Amino acid sequence: MALIVHKYGGTSVGAVDRIQNVARKVKGFVDNGDQVVVVVSAMSGETNRLVALAGAMQEKPDAREMDVLLSTGEQVTIALLSMALKATGCDARSYTGTQVHILTDSAHNKARILDIDEKKMRADLEAGRVVVVAGFQGVDEHGNITTLGRGGSDTTAVALAAALKADECQIYTDVDGVYTTDPRVVPEARRLDRITFEEMLEMASLGSKVLQIRSVEFAGKYNVPLRVLSSFEGKEGPGTLITYEEDGMEDARISGIAFNRDEAKLTIQGVPDQPGVAYRILGPIGEANIEIDMIVQNVASDDTTDFTFTVHRNDYDKALAILQKTAQELGAREVNGDDRIVKISLVGVGMRSHAGIASTMFEALAKEAINIRMISTSEIKISVVVDEKYLELGVRALHSAFNLEEAPAAP
Ligand code: ADP
Ligand code: ASP
Ligand code: MG
Repeated sequence: MALIVHKYGGTSVGAVDRIQNVARKVKGFVDNGDQVVVVVSAMSGETNRLVALAGAMQEKPDAREMDVLLSTGEQVTIALLSMALKATGCDARSYTGTQVHILTDSAHNKARILDIDEKKMRADLEAGRVVVVAGFQGVDEHGNITTLGRGGSDTTAVALAAALKADECQIYTDVDGVYTTDPRVVPEARRLDRITFEEMLEMASLGSKVLQIRSVEFAGKYNVPLRVLSSFEGKEGPGTLITYEEDGMEDARISGIAFNRDEAKLTIQGVPDQPGVAYRILGPIGEANIEIDMIVQNVASDDTTDFTFTVHRNDYDKALAILQKTAQELGAREVNGDDRIVKISLVGVGMRSHAGIASTMFEALAKEAINIRMISTSEIKISVVVDEKYLELGVRALHSAFNLEEAPAAP
């Protein structure tokens, strides 16, 4: 007998028959003698619908009220799934985040889980019930409803698995595992049997939305066995296990390619090259709560410098206005920007021990005449910024340059 936390995403609970399918799946585990806690998302499209409604009321919707609104999507699915489970003869009980006391901080729309009271869930499990918990939501110390950021149901599932010391946290979705890249962009993408926490964290941070970043952080920190699998009939399989690095894994060299369409870049040119310039340029951006991703500084021969950085596309207009003001104050020559860029990243623990990966990457992009606008590297990733129109071509070229469609030979 095992204690397992399941999580079903929006598409997996997107219609009546999909919810009934989830109920049948869960019942299979219960019939097998397992104890099951199920975390569900809102039905697909529902959270976006609620966001649009809020936008019709207030230009920048109040963060507290937004959480009251957005948390309703998941409340619908927990009740429906519990009913569907009862219809299959499986006793179940649904709970909102507040009811199982998923305590978070008060950062509305991006709250962090601080503590979970697992007593109520344990009592239900002992009584032979399936516990169905609303994903993506919690409650702060003042009793306010909070939400965990888009895709946050993954994090709820991992946090519950950690609190309950579950044997495994299984994330059921519309793909049958983590692939070498998004299979919607590269049909030849290959499912990975395993990926390290470190690589999965990079993939998620660099744009692969298959798992929310925080869920991977949490699983790594609390050592929660985490698996991504398909919720669809006929697609049953082992999925992808997220694990610690094991011997032989570095032979795989590259695990995958992530990409992010949400970036925009800004450049301030001809800034006098003096101490404190980076601070004077980026300080006001940070004060406006705009997150900066990549930064590149080039020094010209005439004692001036060009400074380029990237921000989220939603922050582009705001960042451009701030930068124009800074340029005037600093006596810079010119400000320009581009919000039609994307970031493509190669991820793999094998980069630590293999030279030449960057040159293979740049060669593959050069062969397709794709101009690289910015580059950044870390121990296990290389990211490039290119024009948006080259996204698909670039990802496909890299996928084939690194033979990612082929399973690596056994060590
Ligand atoms: P859910 O609603 O179940 O949470 P998501 O849409 O959040 O599902 O995540 C699943 C999607 O993630 C897939 O449909 C796929 O298009 C996308 N995806 C992006 N990168 C990858 C990847 N490397 N492997 C698998 N899926 C990926
Ligand atoms: N329903 C929320 C969203 O669409 C949370 C989730 O699905 O994980 O972002
Ligand atoms: Mg998701």
